[in-house]
Amino acid sequence: MTKETLMMRWVAEKQVRDPRVLQAFHEVPREKFVLPRWKRYAYEDSPLPTAKGQTISQPTTIMLMLDALEVHPGMKVLEIGTGSGYTCALLSHLVGPYGRVMSLELDPDLAKTAEKRLASMSPNVTILVRDGWEGLPESAPFDRIIVTAAAPSIPMALLDQLKDPGIIVIPVGPPEGQTGLKLKKEHNTYVQESFGQFLFVPLRKEEK
Ligand code: SAH
Repeated sequence: MTKETLMMRWVAEKQVRDPRVLQAFHEVPREKFVLPRWKRYAYEDSPLPTAKGQTISQPTTIMLMLDALEVHPGMKVLEIGTGSGYTCALLSHLVGPYGRVMSLELDPDLAKTAEKRLASMSPNVTILVRDGWEGLPESAPFDRIIVTAAAPSIPMALLDQLKDPGIIVIPVGPPEGQTGLKLKKEHNTYVQESFGQFLFVPLRKEEK
């Protein structure tokens, strides 16, 4: 598969509607975020292993999530689960030079590698070694929040840290499979819709 084939399929099947999400995918080199021996599979539509037993999400999965997130230039976005940093790079394009992306990662080694990869590419991204269950209260509220790990339930802290109006996109469910949920906060109420079934690595509870 090639980058172009993937993009044509998303458009033909009306899976990705936001042209800016397609543009971001076009511009970010996914091959830079996978381990060297997996580079030639960078544009297969499958998750790939990254260091420490974690994965970089399947391209279609991440596109569906970003399409649901409705990111506009200038927004402040929080991501939970930096992993390879690939989603950060896509978000960086979507928020543009006046926007900001904060991404939380529990594993310090993954955070460091992602930070190095993004240093020259995405100056508007900050990666922090923090527990995503707590969010990032000191930088709240966020226009958008995206969780790229499987949550058994929606962390309350994240709902508190979402702007009104705002959108959070999160895969919720057991480790065997999750439902992609999009919650729109408006006038302090939430409208929920689901957009497919996914398989993410778990959002871990930090050992204290
Ligand atoms: N968005 C990533 C894929 C994320 S995989 C990419 O583009 O590559 C999920 C990541 O969430 C893993 O790196 C894992 O270490 C991290 N993670 C798991 N539990 C977490 C928690 N409680 N807080 C922050 N990060 C967490």
